[in-house]
Amino acid sequence: MKVPILLPNIFNYPFTYQSDINLKVGEYVIVPFGKTKMVGVVWNHFEKKNEKNFHLKKIIKRLKINPLNEKTIKFLNWFSQYNLIPKGMSLKLHLLSNEAIEEIPDKEFESYRLVKNKYDFTLSKEQEQSLDELKIKNKEFRVHVLQGTTGSGKTIVYFNSIKDKIDKGYQGLILLPEIGLTSEFEKKFIDFFGFIPAIWHSGITKKKKKIIWNGLTNGKIKVVIGARSALFLPFNKLGIIIVDEEHDQSYKQDEGVIYNARDMAISRASFENIPIDLVSAVPSIETYENIKKRKYSYSRIFNRYKNAQLPKHQIIDLNKYKLNNQSWISSKTIEKAKNHLESGDQVLFFINRRGFSPYVFCQNCLKVYSCPHCSINLVYHKNKKKLLCHYCGFTTTLKRTCDRNISGSCKFILSGPGVEKIFEEVKNFFPNYQTLIFSSDTMNKKKSSKDLQKIINNEVKILIGTQLISKGYHFPNLNCIVVLDIDLSSPGHDLRGAEKNLQLYHQLSGRAGRTGKPAIVYFQTYNLKSDTISKLTNSDPFVFLENELQLRKKNNLPPFERFIALILASKDEKKLENESHRLKQHLVKNLNSKILGPINAPIYKIRKNFRNRILIRSKKSDIIQESLSFVLKKFKFSPGMKLTVDVDPISFN
Ligand SMILES: [Zn+2]
Ligand SMILES: [Zn+2]
Repeated sequence: MKVPILLPNIFNYPFTYQSDINLKVGEYVIVPFGKTKMVGVVWNHFEKKNEKNFHLKKIIKRLKINPLNEKTIKFLNWFSQYNLIPKGMSLKLHLLSNEAIEEIPDKEFESYRLVKNKYDFTLSKEQEQSLDELKIKNKEFRVHVLQGTTGSGKTIVYFNSIKDKIDKGYQGLILLPEIGLTSEFEKKFIDFFGFIPAIWHSGITKKKKKIIWNGLTNGKIKVVIGARSALFLPFNKLGIIIVDEEHDQSYKQDEGVIYNARDMAISRASFENIPIDLVSAVPSIETYENIKKRKYSYSRIFNRYKNAQLPKHQIIDLNKYKLNNQSWISSKTIEKAKNHLESGDQVLFFINRRGFSPYVFCQNCLKVYSCPHCSINLVYHKNKKKLLCHYCGFTTTLKRTCDRNISGSCKFILSGPGVEKIFEEVKNFFPNYQTLIFSSDTMNKKKSSKDLQKIINNEVKILIGTQLISKGYHFPNLNCIVVLDIDLSSPGHDLRGAEKNLQLYHQLSGRAGRTGKPAIVYFQTYNLKSDTISKLTNSDPFVFLENELQLRKKNNLPPFERFIALILASKDEKKLENESHRLKQHLVKNLNSKILGPINAPIYKIRKNFRNRILIRSKKSDIIQESLSFVLKKFKFSPGMKLTVDVDPISFN
């Protein structure tokens, strides 16, 4: 028989093979491809225009794995079409580095079955009610939003709804932003379920990946907690998907294969015909709109766990309490922090900038230190004694021959604050308190779990943190947060700048006052008149979301219009310019929608590549991906040009 086999490569269609044995859709096979062998899957359709009767190669063997179910195949087909990604590349996301895993010894799954002591989690009335609402119509596809203030115990509510499904023999998937996959979360899971969840993210070992992959095909693993890529795992009988922190923009994968994992999770649930729950303290704009349109059902928990109060907000007026030269913390702020420290509270100074100084220039030649490969400034990291590009990872030392200084070297001025600088300043004021920097530079190593424990135990008294700290941590003694950079956090090249800030400060506030003691968030600012802070700190985020939504509507921005960004990149600046205009003309002629650009990308150069952007805007109801894919196929790019398609872009860098 002839069979269509999809292979994990850049082709958008299955290849036709000959088979002596009867094969069913979804079965995993090994086939010859060119001079190598590859793992492929029997697909549900043949390539359309494969009419030629050339010699067909034979399938080598069938693998002993439960076949991929047809719902997942349909999902992968749709995923390709929506995101303009070759079908083969979608399959690659599903397979493990081009591998399908046969038979794993049963003992490897033991730890996922081991029953430990379970704790009793009694639900509050509100939680109980939310759980009831989650269970309505949860036998088929529907999207439900579970909203609740930070610290209100949403996790326990959805754990209960997963347990319900597992008891009925289904598997469950919990998606978390990569950064939220903490050992704390895992512990809570084990306390509740009494067994170890399969944790899935880019950092786990290859061996673990194989066990989990296989354990899902044979149903020996029940629950996966994973980052984006867990969405493509071969669940044998998926019964529920949870997207926790659904608003988190890190669900958008924006390099390589570009897709939004939250949105794709919703479509996977729809193909599987199973319920999906979106969980958040402040839903994203899109989700908020869908709640309003009643496309999604919705429940809300108002009170925090054990009735802990949300923190109060106080403004520190920098016009009145002036900052000293080279200082970023006002005397008033120090006084407040001191009071908190003396009463045993932990204090967090928040500044969303890694390193010591984001801006380094020479006082003689005035030249700024920027990355030779990207159009971006280098950040000085004092701890590493290095200047670092946060885009491409380029590093260099603080040494440069000066154009203007006769004596030879540049005389550097380190301008603007980063966490390391704030650390020094705080250390000056409070030399006797244990102080710790909480950023991706300091908290990604093995010793960070020890540091975390020290924070939880209130041994570390002062934290200097970037946005990393806003994600899901539970620090019982944190009752004072000082936001240093509210004036510095400009929306940038980002349609969602305001929304992003709202999410950030809301999450951040949620870290404080979790055990009932009154907590305060202080904002240092010069802009007393701007309503930014009051908007950001309003306890009802729907006020802000409603405003933002109206603004989007007025300007025909997403979610009211569909955006697709095309990013062209090349090392040759001139070629890029010509090619971008040629592509634009081609699109205008062949595609029935608004085409904007080309413009130079705000970060014009990244990793030595110059970049131009074209934006396609169409009605929300039109799925223009199919025609766009057709039109792009007819365009011949000259060598050295790279095209990236970003459907529903979030970042416009
Ligand atoms: Zn760079
Ligand atoms: Zn100089």
